[in-house]
This record gives sequence, C-alpha cells and structure tokens, in this order.
Amino acid sequence: MEIVTRRLSEALPGQPIESVMTPGINVLKTFDPPLSALEGATIADVRRRGKLLLLEASTESHGPLTLLMHLMSAGRLQLQPKRGSLRDKTSRVLIRLPDDHELRLREFGTKQAAWIKLLTLDGLEAEESLKTLGPEAWPDPPELGETLASPRPLHSLLRDQQVIAGIGRTWVDEILHAAQLSPFKRGDDLSEDELAALREAMVSELGRVIDVYEEQVQLPLPEKFPKPTRVHAHQGEPCPRCETVLEAVFYEDYVMTYCPHCQTEGRVLKDRRLSRLLK
Ligand SMILES: [Zn+2]
Repeated sequence: MEIVTRRLSEALPGQPIESVMTPGINVLKTFDPPLSALEGATIADVRRRGKLLLLEASTESHGPLTLLMHLMSAGRLQLQPKRGSLRDKTSRVLIRLPDDHELRLREFGTKQAAWIKLLTLDGLEAEESLKTLGPEAWPDPPELGETLASPRPLHSLLRDQQVIAGIGRTWVDEILHAAQLSPFKRGDDLSEDELAALREAMVSELGRVIDVYEEQVQLPLPEKFPKPTRVHAHQGEPCPRCETVLEAVFYEDYVMTYCPHCQTEGRVLKDRRLSRLLK
C-alpha cells in the first residue's frame, strides 16, 4: 500500500471528484453519509495506515469526508483513462475524475472481500479497523519488546495487523530470515539482541521492497506488482546467505519458507498438514 499511496498522493490532491459508483456488491459498508456526498468534492490528501488507504476529500454538504479502503489480498487500485464499461466482473469501486480519468478498485479473485467506508471526522475517529491497528512496522517501528510480548509464534504475530501494522505474510518470511530467527520462536522469548535484530530486519527488508517498488511501479499502477523475494516461496532453492536448501511449511492457503541453517539450528520443522493428521 505504501507505493500505491505515494503514487496516488502525487496525482490526486486538488482534483475534483465527478462521481463515485460501486459496481461491487456490498463493497460499501456505510450508508450515511451517502456516496453522492462526494460528487463535486475536492480530493485533499491520500494517506496510508497499515494496509488501509485513506482518501480525504472536502465536500460542501458534509465538510471533510474520508473514503477508507481496504483492498484485502486480491484488490488493486488503478488510476487510468476512463475504460467505459462497468460490467467488468472485477470492478468494485469507480471514482470518476476530470479529463476522462478514473480511479478504479478491481479485485482479482473469486471472493469479493475488498471494502470501503465513507466516514465523517467523528466516524473516522470511532472507526474500529483503524483504532485496533498496532504501531506501523515501517519506517520507524517501536522497540519491539512490549509489542511482541506474547506466547504466540513470530510468524503469526508479525502478520497480525493488531500487533504491528503493515507486514504481509510474504514479507514475514523475508524479515525473519534477515533477522535469523525461527518463525516458531515465541514473541515473549526474544533476547534484547534478537529484538534489536528483528527491528532492524523489519526496517531494512520493508525498505528494500519499497525501493524496488519506487523504481518499478508507476501510474497507472499495475495489476501485478513485482515480488522481490529472496526466501518466501523459494523452498528447494539455496539460502541466499548460506546456500542450505530452503525448507517450507505448507498451510491451507499460504506457504512459510525458512532456512534450517540460519533460522532453526538445523531443525526441519514439521509440515503442519502432516503433524495434525498424526496427532
Ligand atoms: Zn541460510
């Protein structure tokens, strides 16, 4: 979301909104104020918090309003010349802009999971999805001792947005590999040195990814983003640090990759699917 926010905040502020439509069923989770309140509004700012995008607009009828958007895992925003058709099965939200341009939220998956809310200032302050977010993982995460003080394993803690905001599951593998920590180490079982290494890995790995995006991602925002991974989903390939073959644990809808030499003291972790069957 960071690079999407950057690109949109370069292009959108000052632009008037002609109309907002929601071809996606149930994508809009609020009803007051109505979306029509945005017609004729001027976009003031585009911000990010965790994985949420906040498009702020000033309106004549309702004062400042925020369109809060969560793209979920398969959603994409694109700023492009008008495409005409609303019948495109992937379209969820369509914001018409001047000069025949549009900002379109599309979703590439079988589920309709992405959502938006239109909020007043009071509504924004009370919004649960924002209030419950943990501190930002980038660019300046907090000292992690308190944040991670939980018996849960790191691979689950780090992608829990309420614990720390902004890390997707792909980057958890990269961060834990960079910090040389086991994905199954408990959050409350980290030494000062390990906490410091983890914090440093968070900043450097997320920074590395954003640098790649900064160079490669331009308007009108691509459907597919580059994935500059070195570890995640690279199981069977040599570790980029020590050349040990990377191992993986397979879950129902994702894979967790790690280096047995760098992260788990040589242990190959049980594949959860198997260990559950054998219990
Ligand atoms: Zn290694």
